[in-house]
Amino acid sequence: MAKQFKPETLCVQAGWTPKKGEPRVLPIYQSTTFKYETSEQMARLFDLEENGYFYTRLQNPTNDAVAAKIAALEGGVAAMLTSSGQSANFYAIFNICQAGDHFVCSSTIYGGTFNLFGVTMKKLGIDVTFVNPDAPEEEISAAFRPNTKALFGETISNPTLEVLDIEKFARIAHSHGVPLIVDNTFPTPINCRPFEWGADIVVHSTTKYMDGHATSVGGAIVDSGNFNWDAYADKFPGLCTPDESYHGLTYTKAFGKMAYITKATAQLMRDLGSIQSPQNAFLLNIGLETLHLRMPQHCKNAQAVAEYLSKNDKVAWVNYCGLPGDKYHELAQKYMPNGSCGVVTFGLKGGREVSIKFMDSLKLAAIVTHVADARTCVLHPASHTHRQLSDEQLMKAGIRPDLIRFSVGIENADDIIADIEQALNA
Ligand SMILES: *Cc1c(COP(=O)(O)O)cnc(C)c1O
Repeated sequence: MAKQFKPETLCVQAGWTPKKGEPRVLPIYQSTTFKYETSEQMARLFDLEENGYFYTRLQNPTNDAVAAKIAALEGGVAAMLTSSGQSANFYAIFNICQAGDHFVCSSTIYGGTFNLFGVTMKKLGIDVTFVNPDAPEEEISAAFRPNTKALFGETISNPTLEVLDIEKFARIAHSHGVPLIVDNTFPTPINCRPFEWGADIVVHSTTKYMDGHATSVGGAIVDSGNFNWDAYADKFPGLCTPDESYHGLTYTKAFGKMAYITKATAQLMRDLGSIQSPQNAFLLNIGLETLHLRMPQHCKNAQAVAEYLSKNDKVAWVNYCGLPGDKYHELAQKYMPNGSCGVVTFGLKGGREVSIKFMDSLKLAAIVTHVADARTCVLHPASHTHRQLSDEQLMKAGIRPDLIRFSVGIENADDIIADIEQALNA
């Protein structure tokens, strides 16, 4: 299905093709376990000699159908669902890094990922160097060491809305013999497919636009199948040498282009869990069926909001890569010609206090921690997600104290702008 259909068709149809008499709608396989006729059949599954379901912590038919849809949308060869975006990012790195290893990461990434990589993974003995993604190639290259195993970045960073130069990052990663991993949560494959620009692995917080209705926390990892692990076998022993916990099977030899996702399923899901519940995968799939309709509406509305804000004299600054003067406008035109995402950030003249008063005066836009769903919502990181940080620490994290993250929904743009206007006047 992946090759022959366009994204709109894949959103609606990919992943689940019922046979005669089977349900038209992807069923929720709300079952932890699966039945076999003989003990021998079951044994073959445990040895990874046959593909099949035995326990939902490893694989579940509902989850696999949704993962296949996401793989098709990204143009990848294999995908897996995880319980959250956090676990997707953790697995994506941990699948190829162990204690003593190192990876390089853009400094402008989601706060939760920054903490996972910079604090928690360090406790596991995996070191990270954060680099300014806009720095010249030589400067980013200088962060690589002999034990570096990956390069990581976000297509559009949350909440600072910086656009990643994916081709530049891919060149740097490949010149050091490591894969580029891209978190493509904000644009979704409707607006950007990082594999087309050289990324090797894509991760998602499906919690955001993919679900789109703020019902289910979830994540996904997609493999392009393009990275040649065996060419750098000494760097990736977990993929290229025998796994003793599976009778000496070697993932790249046994599974070819499916090696990375198979290893993540067989080892990481087996040992660490973090499976998405089939119920949540079902809801995610319903969200995906309209992703191609929702993303253009988010972008159209966000463009209107950004243009309105940029002309309002109560507004100090606006970040939105759809605005011609924006620092990332050109990169966005290259990688996301049909639109970027629905998130706009801005600051009001008068700073923190004025921002808080503005937010409290909004009536349609709700104050929530969430971002990127059908309903317009708003967050002030300095007062909420990052409230323990001083102004100085905020600036270091690239977050201005007056930054308002405005997640534009799919309502009518006139109503959203009218709400902003009455709150600005309040
Ligand atoms: C929200 C988010 C995450 C974390 O995802 P969860 O589903 O909340 O665990 C990771 N990356 C980006 C870009 C995000 O916006």
